[in-house]
Amino acid sequence: MQDFELRVPRLIDHAEREHGTREIVSRWADGSETRTDWAGVARDARKLAQALERLGVKPGDRVATLAMNHAHHLVAWYGVIGMGGVIHTINPRLFDDQLEYIANHAEDRVLFYDRMFQPIVDRLRDRWTTIERYVVMDGEGEDSLRALIDAEDGNYAWVEGPERDPCMLCYTSGTTGNPKGVLYTHRSSLIHAMAEVQPSVFDLSCRSVVMPIVPMFHAAAWGLPFAAPLAGCKVVMSAVNEPKVICELMNRERVTHSAGVPTVWLGMFQYMDATGDQPEHLKLVTIGGSAAPRAMIERIMRMGMRVNHAWGMTETSPIGTMGAPPVNWDEMTFEEQVDEVTRQGRVPFGVELRVVDDEDRVQPRDGQSSGRLQIRGPWVVSRYFKADADAVDADNWFDTGDVAVLHPDGTMQITDRAKDVIKSGGEWISSVELENAAVGCPGVAEAAAIGVYHPRWEERPLLLVVRKPGAEVTAHEITAHLAQHVAKWWLPDEIVFVDELPHTATGKLLKTALRERYKDYRLA
Ligand code: ADP
Repeated sequence: MQDFELRVPRLIDHAEREHGTREIVSRWADGSETRTDWAGVARDARKLAQALERLGVKPGDRVATLAMNHAHHLVAWYGVIGMGGVIHTINPRLFDDQLEYIANHAEDRVLFYDRMFQPIVDRLRDRWTTIERYVVMDGEGEDSLRALIDAEDGNYAWVEGPERDPCMLCYTSGTTGNPKGVLYTHRSSLIHAMAEVQPSVFDLSCRSVVMPIVPMFHAAAWGLPFAAPLAGCKVVMSAVNEPKVICELMNRERVTHSAGVPTVWLGMFQYMDATGDQPEHLKLVTIGGSAAPRAMIERIMRMGMRVNHAWGMTETSPIGTMGAPPVNWDEMTFEEQVDEVTRQGRVPFGVELRVVDDEDRVQPRDGQSSGRLQIRGPWVVSRYFKADADAVDADNWFDTGDVAVLHPDGTMQITDRAKDVIKSGGEWISSVELENAAVGCPGVAEAAAIGVYHPRWEERPLLLVVRKPGAEVTAHEITAHLAQHVAKWWLPDEIVFVDELPHTATGKLLKTALRERYKDYRLA
């Protein structure tokens, strides 16, 4: 058969040829809106590829973005990838030390950024040692993406090469230490996109109108910027995620598919309750990145929509599982259907899951045996960028740091987390770093940070502190101390003083016991 390298530019070629007039709608941070289509994105991406070559960017070089969702961000992806480069999506919500580290570690040569992130650029420009060129995405003038594009004729052929070449770099700021880069290949991104359009995953076709609310810097907006051109979807994007704006766009542009973290829907519900507006054309709502609460799933299902509960990680491109209706869906009561969707769903063809216990023994799929969740497949990481050793075992199993059970029908249910992190509104807070900062405060003997339920942010940090004998350090003093060491949004919502903390046999904090003890704790 024909040798056909699975390269990402084939996606944009296909969309241009077969779905050229399918629209891409952008709502920008200043409130203005623009419309282009797949042919327009392809044309601009070719011009940008030319411009990058003219700037001296070579295949394999990293080009970064610090940007929200809009058509120019799409153009940057396809332009960079099309000239053989690697697009590195930087998460602007990281704090300065992390932002400094990842751009230098990635050796980014060019940075495309939105004006709203100008303060970040101003603060870090001197600390970023490899970035030679800064380009504004949403403005005019000589340093703008517009100017780069306008200077070219677009007579350009994409760089060809092996499908295992890298095309995208995403960092994940996990537990402790520096963020780790996951380097996606053309092949992994393309296979992932092909898996995503399936009915049991995102269920996309050329009739779909997709609104990725998940930012493009979060695990590639869950792969939708690659899946949408494959299926020929119309795409609607907003650089601001206010519920009013999202709801208005959804209704005006007739959005049928949305994807975002649970926090998005909490905001939407408030807006809907206050105004009586609601998205009228949505058919499929994908929620992931954190566990979707049962009440949220139920409310959206009562609006007559399908809810896809998705689980995944940056390391898995990110789709691991998706909750499509099972065979016996029609025989289930509504309550049973909601229960079903509350689980994290099943794997599409391509990836495999297993659950292992502490001795690495594979557990049965009995809906009871819980253990560490592991995954493998062609869109799962094998080694972090520039790392010395593999991130997987000899059989390619990647340990996700999640604790789960597998049910006999293949559905997966997350039950706990082995990694020491708190996920707040879709962003990571490292409990270990909070604890380390806290014990640096005079009067603190020991501290444990755990995530507790929060109605808006899913989880917020609760800090449990054991005072040194005789010390009278206050919560206020501890917070003031922490503020010097961590980002403001990391600060614990509450600090509770305790006499002692539980430990494992080896003296480590027993987080499982703490999480269990505070599972019904409600922040004041
Ligand atoms: P993303 O950028 O997609 O949020 P991350 O790599 O930052 O990906 O986070 C992945 C982690 O988020 C998972 O390992 C898991 O702990 C958590 N997670 C993602 N989806 C779910 C879900 N549906 N239910 C529970 N936890 C989830």
